[in-house]
Amino acid sequence: MRVIKSIKSIRTFLKTIKIKNKRIGLVPTMGALHKGHLSLIQKSRRENDIIILSIFVNPKQFGPKEDFTQYPRQEKKDELLAKKEKVDIIFYPSVEELYPKDYLTYVFVDELGEKLCGQSRPNHFQGVTTIVAKLLNIITPDTLYLGQKDAQQVIIINKMIQNLNIPVKVKTCPIIREPDGLAMSSRNRYLSSRQRKEAPILFQSLKSAKKRIQKGEHRSAALLQMIQSNIERNSSGRIDYLECVDNQSLNPLKKITSSGMIALAVKFGSTRLIDNIEFKIK
Ligand code: AMP
Repeated sequence: MRVIKSIKSIRTFLKTIKIKNKRIGLVPTMGALHKGHLSLIQKSRRENDIIILSIFVNPKQFGPKEDFTQYPRQEKKDELLAKKEKVDIIFYPSVEELYPKDYLTYVFVDELGEKLCGQSRPNHFQGVTTIVAKLLNIITPDTLYLGQKDAQQVIIINKMIQNLNIPVKVKTCPIIREPDGLAMSSRNRYLSSRQRKEAPILFQSLKSAKKRIQKGEHRSAALLQMIQSNIERNSSGRIDYLECVDNQSLNPLKKITSSGMIALAVKFGSTRLIDNIEFKIK
């Protein structure tokens, strides 16, 4: 496994790979790797010849009051985990490498980025699409691996790839959870022990809403009300958003007629957790 920090070096390396017609899989992350990230790497390992893991805590996707400086960074531990998973290259650029002083260009997907997480994180998705577009241009992988944990991110990146005609396939991997149902996240470590005990209520509530959908409750308002009171009664979490939406347009669904998802963000103290569940009825 090689750790490459500059754009020039990774391009030089990739030239030798491309001549041999090898399939390249890219797993973009912000590091502090957990089993959710590893599941993406494992899928990519099964489907490609060369696996590139990028680790970059992207300042452009954090708001001024968010946790960019506190975001966990664990370079050596991540290297060991990546090596175990047979990653071929870790691309580990610095902020200056990707955003030099005279940097001016952003990629912005209209409308979708303003919904759900975009309401309380106004420039977040512009930061995400900008960095992903840059990584796709630098690495030109055959396949990009993303997690359903960040469902809105998947929808927005797919739209960007489609609209900008970027020649890459996207594979979305299921949410990996702790045994008690909490979606794995680099931010879970910030939860106090009380908050950690309470946090599984998010997935429990989403799951029972999905059961109700399957039993015939198709009014979103009733489902969302059930989830809200469940969370409020059983935890100290404060709901940032809770919505039942179409899983292409992200527009709210008043009544469920086919497929969609319920997505939420809940703050436990200053730690903001997100989760979602997809549903489909006949
Ligand atoms: P992050 O490091 O949080 O930017 O995440 C990097 C990638 O890992 C994104 O595509 C995430 O959706 C994915 N990911 C993060 N947590 C999970 C999880 N619990 N299960 C599946 N994928 C995840």
